[in-house]
Amino acid sequence: MQAGGAGQINKGVIISLRKAVILKFTPKELMQFLVNLGEPGYRAKQILEWVYQKGATSFKEMTNLPISLRERLEQTTEIGFLEKITEQVSADGTAKILFNLSDGQGVETVVLPYDIGYSACISTQVGCKMGCIFCASGLPGYIRNLTAAEMMAQVLQAGGSARNRDQELKSLVLMGSGEPLDNWDATIKFLEAVKDPGRLGMSLRHVTLSTSGLVPKIKELAALEFPLTLAVSLHAPNDDLRSKIMPINTKYPLTPLLTACDEYTKATGRRVTYEYILIAGLNDSVDLALELSARLRGRNCHVNLITLNAVPELDLRPSPEVAVRTFRDTLRQKKINVTVRRELGADIAAACGQLRNNYMREC
Ligand code: SF4
Repeated sequence: MQAGGAGQINKGVIISLRKAVILKFTPKELMQFLVNLGEPGYRAKQILEWVYQKGATSFKEMTNLPISLRERLEQTTEIGFLEKITEQVSADGTAKILFNLSDGQGVETVVLPYDIGYSACISTQVGCKMGCIFCASGLPGYIRNLTAAEMMAQVLQAGGSARNRDQELKSLVLMGSGEPLDNWDATIKFLEAVKDPGRLGMSLRHVTLSTSGLVPKIKELAALEFPLTLAVSLHAPNDDLRSKIMPINTKYPLTPLLTACDEYTKATGRRVTYEYILIAGLNDSVDLALELSARLRGRNCHVNLITLNAVPELDLRPSPEVAVRTFRDTLRQKKINVTVRRELGADIAAACGQLRNNYMREC
């Protein structure tokens, strides 16, 4: 969840002449497309292997295809990659990539260098409707949904960024701009492509989906029994405070939200992660930590404390280190599983949406 800017990025807009896009095809659809071109259907498997597994960025690299087919594909088809506007790499190895979409909108993807393998944090919408008060991505409001192909392009191009550093992507998080469950159809289509052995072939156990707490959609997701990790933005232990921080709470308050999360764990066997951004003087007191522990007591869950990445446009400050430690220790004393998320990429406009917002200002 996070995102966009009011205008369009007007540099280097790609004008697509309605070529077919490989990332939009299922294996079966690509096979049919090739058969319609008079090619054997088995070429589909070869093409998908090049795109999803071998990191090919052009048809020219697909050396087990006949030259005539490669040329034909160049003329009629595109893989579906996004135009990279900029990639900033932090001192700690975090990379933030700003992409230009085919309609001139911009979107951010982050590559995170964890010890257990690289992770890609992708966006699911340009802008966002949810209006969380700490979020740079939501500042411009909602602009549009991303397609499943645009989400997959971010993953593959983030994979390219990792490969440039001799690393591989081991996990994905849907935690960039946008609320993934508010873009339900495309998000589910994307997840199908992620787990499809004929495409990305990544277990959904390595995928985390972050939501602001759309209760009906959490229930629908539970019914699908995908083994992904659900990360729910909580940020407050009571409705009054949460509604101030996250307006969506007025529609889906804490009690039904936590009940839906319990149902999710029951259906999938997966422990829910509750994200809690610590904002100085707003939600970081010991009393609130005690209230949170009372709310979560007995639940199979994990709390992820996050230090706020300050956004210049917003008048909020991160909690001081001592407050973060005290909040964590209070939860620990109450036997709540809790970690403090390591801050990555602080030197490169780390809050989601900041890179794009900075770029929009420069434009
Ligand atoms: S934090 Fe809130 S406003 Fe920002 S992208 Fe996520 S849901 Fe949208």
